[in-house]
Amino acid sequence: MVSRVIPVEPFDLVVFGATGDLAQRKILPALFRRYCAGQIPTGTRIIGAARSAHSPDEYRINLAQSLEKNLTASTFDPKDLAKFLELVSYVPLDGSGETGWSTLCEALSGAGTDRVQVFYFSVGPGLFGPLAERLHSYGLTNGATRIVVEKPFGHDLETARELNRTLASHFDEGQIYRIDHYLGKETVQNLMAVRFGNMLFEPLWNSQYVDHIQITVAETVGVLGREDYYERSGAMRDMMQNHLMQLLCLIAMEPPAKFDPDAVRDEKLKVIRALDPVEPYHIVRGQYAPASGAVGRDLNYRETVRNQRTRTESYIALKAHISNWRWAGTPFYLRTGKRLKARSSVINVMFKDAPHSIFGEEAGRHANHLKIRLQPNEGITLSVTIKEPGPGGMRLMDVPLDMSFAEALGPKGGDPADAYERLIMDVVRGNQTLFMRGDEVEAAWAWTDPIIADWEARGDVPKPYESGSTGPGDADLLLRRDTREWRGINP
Ligand code: NAP
Repeated sequence: MVSRVIPVEPFDLVVFGATGDLAQRKILPALFRRYCAGQIPTGTRIIGAARSAHSPDEYRINLAQSLEKNLTASTFDPKDLAKFLELVSYVPLDGSGETGWSTLCEALSGAGTDRVQVFYFSVGPGLFGPLAERLHSYGLTNGATRIVVEKPFGHDLETARELNRTLASHFDEGQIYRIDHYLGKETVQNLMAVRFGNMLFEPLWNSQYVDHIQITVAETVGVLGREDYYERSGAMRDMMQNHLMQLLCLIAMEPPAKFDPDAVRDEKLKVIRALDPVEPYHIVRGQYAPASGAVGRDLNYRETVRNQRTRTESYIALKAHISNWRWAGTPFYLRTGKRLKARSSVINVMFKDAPHSIFGEEAGRHANHLKIRLQPNEGITLSVTIKEPGPGGMRLMDVPLDMSFAEALGPKGGDPADAYERLIMDVVRGNQTLFMRGDEVEAAWAWTDPIIADWEARGDVPKPYESGSTGPGDADLLLRRDTREWRGINP
């Protein structure tokens, strides 16, 4: 299988926050990988910008080390490194002051008005507005300018609206790329291919055949190193409002008329707007705590954030309903948490039992189940019921029809492009399909805000759960009350 590289014209990409964690771990490695793949042409200019005082040479030396550290041996190709670094320069700059901006103007001079210029805001959200204003006032924008904005996009509906207004005063919606890296994952796009490229699934994709859907995003890491941000955010704002909401939209949306940005995003928006408010007793919040006798760093949320009275949740599970013709009566169970048993992002579509078993009760009842794995081991598995082999009579069992991308797509598929690679090149090509539109983000906050307001009004205290477990016991009860069970959290 040969991967297809769609050529692009030389472009300019400025990474604000180029010395930070995200730029070093994801954005610059993604650019290097695309360069190695032959997709970034000579003449492209990649400019790092941050406050730290580095000369361009110092920055390139640090970047070379950081690329080696942040890429695996199979993805780091030293032979292309020197040539890639020739495209890279660095400008010390204050995003909220005036220092460095004239140097950036010089570094970007000489570009024609139709040259694509991407400004990646890999900085704290407090700088999004000041950066947008300065790009404008220093005359650094043209019709082909695009800005990439990282999460968090607002803290609630009001702040998201304010941010949308600020950006809209300098850029058209078509120039704003609100990134959610989950949407760049191979499997997420395959989810659309599976649903809308096959006759097999779409006729069954509704409440008549689907019993329920589970979306799990489980992490093994805690919040150490991000305590202040996390205390202000919690699992609801950090994960549910964006990543899980986006996955829910893709799994539940109607087929768009075509695979184009606004057609897809219109359908996603309809899903969010059709979400019912969530009943308080359909929500479980948790905080990780050490298992008895366990010793180690960051096993206790309250200790890590140094606040014994904190009410911020590191885990949330909830049951959502979409009030539309397709999904009336089908619950969507969503859960996400830190310090869980395994790192695993999975969507499980649980089909209903066959209406009648011709084999009798002793054969066992098995429902089909489609498992969509986002990480690790991206792939899709469909469980199908067959006869248990052997002479033991007609007994039924499940077997997986497995489409692991690593196996199905050969060496290239086994090393799928990182989500950031795909998304950054989409920005350069001007394709917004996998980016959130402003109204989508606002609609997601409009659903989330009342839930959070209710906890705050009631002084709700999250339930402790053991680090390394599957979450609080109440989350199991949430499904057991409906005579259902969570699928396991497995690596
Ligand atoms: P970080 O490690 O704290 O880096 C922040 C960057 O911003 C640094 O390069 C810093 O460099 C620069 N900076 C700070 N103030 C500045 C100013 N006034 N002018 C110019 N540059 C300034 O943060 P991060 O983890 O990379 O996160 C960046 C953004 O991405 C945040 O919005 C975060 O929420 C989001 N995000 C991060 C991740 C992740 O995995 N890290 C994932 C998703 C989203 P100097 O100190 O040298 O100026």
